[in-house]
Amino acid sequence: MPLEAVEPMAPGWVSIVGAGPGPLDLLTLRALDRLRCAEVVIHDRLIGADILAEIPAQALRYDVGKARGRHTLPQADIHALMVAHARAGRRVVRLKGGDPFIFGRGGEEMQALLAAAVPFEVVPGVSAAQGCGAAAGIPLTQRELASLCVFLPGHADRGDGGYDWAALARPGQTLVFYMGVARLARIAERLMAHGLPPDTPAALVLDGTRPTQTVLARPLQVLASQAPPYGPRPGLVIIGPTVALSPHYRAHATVSLEELAR
Ligand code: SAH
Repeated sequence: MPLEAVEPMAPGWVSIVGAGPGPLDLLTLRALDRLRCAEVVIHDRLIGADILAEIPAQALRYDVGKARGRHTLPQADIHALMVAHARAGRRVVRLKGGDPFIFGRGGEEMQALLAAAVPFEVVPGVSAAQGCGAAAGIPLTQRELASLCVFLPGHADRGDGGYDWAALARPGQTLVFYMGVARLARIAERLMAHGLPPDTPAALVLDGTRPTQTVLARPLQVLASQAPPYGPRPGLVIIGPTVALSPHYRAHATVSLEELAR
């Protein structure tokens, strides 16, 4: 069943939509279009009220969001909900924070729709890494500083997480940890144990791209010791030489580009 086979948002269709990192104006035009003609919207917890306000008043809404450590609806039930409404001939939007295919279980939802032979599409969203990088003035790649960018889940430090920590500790790359705020100290410890210099620039971006955004940019070891306790705000940890290009880091320390490239 090719993705293009059915007209978008025909009845009995599911659109897996990325809502971006928060603000309404970081939603894509396509995402907005899909929301406005939805008959059923199944959405996550991190979606802003102004985005939800675009859903037609008569549409059915399900908040299946997961608070930390508290699953309001098991993944299998989310799949069943999408399939049931699509089979009943409704236009279904599965609205997810950021990009649906980056740490969002969007892949599993696509597989469930494929298995049920329900027509679907996927609408990309601005992922937290891109949003936070841009809004905090941190290029995720930059010639001569970082030609590699790695997205990791914060629980990468569990056990060995199967990761090649020595490779992650090599210079010339940007590491972005999703869901990593609570584990920042352990992640930093592990990276430094594998040779990442303790003065590697690092940033914690809370509520990235939102009016409430907070950026803490410091050498990794300092950041790890100063990071505030985990709160309800979503946060991203970015580690690598390009963090030093950010005005937030520059306010903290002045580093020459030559020093950064080393
Ligand atoms: N699919 C989403 C990620 C879902 S995992 C995406 O592509 O962005 C949820 C994690 O994303 C949070 O724990 C946090 O690490 C990060 N996140 C989402 N929105 C954020 C924001 N506005 N600022 C900082 N981090 C954010």
